Amino acid sequence: MFKIIQKTIKTGIVTTRYPDEPAQTSEHFRGRPVFDFLKWTDARPAAEVCPTAAISINSEENSRRVSIDYGLCVFCGLCAEASADQAVQVTREFELATTDRRDLLFSAEYSLHADGTHQELLAVHRHIPEAPVEVEKVGQRTREQIQRILKRSLAIREVDAGSCNGCELEIVALNNPVYDLQRFGIQFVASPRHADMLMVTGPVTRNMELALLKTYRAMAEPRIVVAVGACGISGGIFGKNYASLGGVDGVLPVDVYIPGCPPRPQALLHGILLAIGRLGEKLGQTGQ
Ligand code: SF4
Repeated sequence: MFKIIQKTIKTGIVTTRYPDEPAQTSEHFRGRPVFDFLKWTDARPAAEVCPTAAISINSEENSRRVSIDYGLCVFCGLCAEASADQAVQVTREFELATTDRRDLLFSAEYSLHADGTHQELLAVHRHIPEAPVEVEKVGQRTREQIQRILKRSLAIREVDAGSCNGCELEIVALNNPVYDLQRFGIQFVASPRHADMLMVTGPVTRNMELALLKTYRAMAEPRIVVAVGACGISGGIFGKNYASLGGVDGVLPVDVYIPGCPPRPQALLHGILLAIGRLGEKLGQTGQ
């Protein structure tokens, strides 16, 4: 007993200060790749190596449209390695959760040289959110918002609809002393009857479709659905096939999308905080 107390005192507080303070990430962590469309001289090598077709190109005789979908991206960094012009850089950004799937889509149009390289950037298309959603930066405000909106804690039911369990490992980490989700009054529950939020991982496999729908229908209104990871958003590396229906929004209405493969615990927390705001909207409360 004495040794345990001694070790506890020696270890001190290990819980991260995120989101009160910026997250500390390893220098090896790979987050969102960013694309310098002006500098990009050729998108073909990146599109060829992209394992999920998150980068796709549509070339005509003298022009090319390059589309980027962060909902498909698994943050492997291969596009950056394949782009000799340094126009693609892997960053450590992970706060990518959004309430609108269109926010994860970008495209650029180029005129082409005869050899197929980019001649001129003609246009960049991206969906600009009408009203950017403010995510709470301070844990205390999060607790207050949960208290104001729910009058109790936020209960989450998680369903693995067919994932590789990578997302589950990160979700489980939310409960450890480092991320300590319960400091916000957020907890995972076993029964959908007790849940306010349904968190879904994996592409929706045909075998899990009915179970997912039953879980959703068992939840009381208002309920929010969070699609976790590239697979939950778009089907990811599995896509749609004989066994998979693709992303969660093909089966259920999704309120928040959390990109990543898998999203790190802080990215999940960022998405959960965003989802609490959506729940407030459904209840007619802005949370401000
Ligand atoms: S980082 Fe994303 S966009 Fe780049 S190659 Fe990997 S999956 Fe494709």
